[in-house]
Amino acid sequence: MNYKEIFEQISKELRDFDEIGQVATYIPALAKANPNKFGMYLVTEEGHEYDHGDIHENFSIQSISKVLSLVYAFKLVGTDLWRRVGVEPSGSPFNSLVQLEYEQGIPRNPLINAGAIVVCDILVSQLKNPYHDFIEFVRKLSGNPSIDYCKETAQSEKECGFKNNAHINLMKSYGNIENDVDEVLDLYFHLCSIEMSCKDLAQTFMFLARSGKNPLNNERILTAQETKRINAIMLLCGFYDEAGEFAFKVGLPGKSGVGGGIVAIYPDQYSIAVWSPGLNSKGNSSKGIKALELFTTITQSNVFGPT
Ligand code: GLU
Repeated sequence: MNYKEIFEQISKELRDFDEIGQVATYIPALAKANPNKFGMYLVTEEGHEYDHGDIHENFSIQSISKVLSLVYAFKLVGTDLWRRVGVEPSGSPFNSLVQLEYEQGIPRNPLINAGAIVVCDILVSQLKNPYHDFIEFVRKLSGNPSIDYCKETAQSEKECGFKNNAHINLMKSYGNIENDVDEVLDLYFHLCSIEMSCKDLAQTFMFLARSGKNPLNNERILTAQETKRINAIMLLCGFYDEAGEFAFKVGLPGKSGVGGGIVAIYPDQYSIAVWSPGLNSKGNSSKGIKALELFTTITQSNVFGPT
């Protein structure tokens, strides 16, 4: 398939796209993003790569890192993880406290803030140096040793993290946080601050399209069964309270972040990353979703069957 031409076709169709949305403004580091940036990057099972637009520029991956921390914690503690966090779609915003109270401190899933904070608690319990070990894990998956946390973003997240403080304290009161709340939150804020490019993002997630094997060195990151579980969680929970809409329009497991990035997986075929910082009212990249909708329609590639 001529993916390069398909990217050009998509870009042409999106030239007059006028629902570009607003960049995230809750911290200065995100507010200064240029809403006109747009990049797409595809890595295929055969190892071919295709790109379009702003694909080398780093952006804040924000909640996309929640999938990577989930994978890391799953590797460390296995199925014990599911005693601490559920696997149900939340149907409510990423930082909603209400469900947490109903479900007695067990977050609905690992891709909302509360769930990702529990995952960070597990990493703090399990690892001597979680900051170092986690970023090394991401670097190995991406093949890019320069990927790093952004100190400025992590600090801003901390200064504005009132709701995340509320989440962790509520979960601590129910006995679902083992460590010091500030230590766990600091790791969480650092995970949100990781920066990478579209190219890095597509490469990093390729193992989820290859039944858990890192294509760069064939290292097994997860078993095929564990990989299926992570992909299922992405499909059901990867887009805040717009996960149903994403499955409906695009038809792939994926994850978004408020930095405007989206990564999606077509098992056994490809990993695709899109970046466009303008967000819709649900906090997902507006143009990014449209681009992926066009992509899976044109290529007839989605997990529910050809269209
Ligand atoms: N850093 C954000 C927060 O904890 C999460 C952003 C996102 O959902 O991408 O508030």
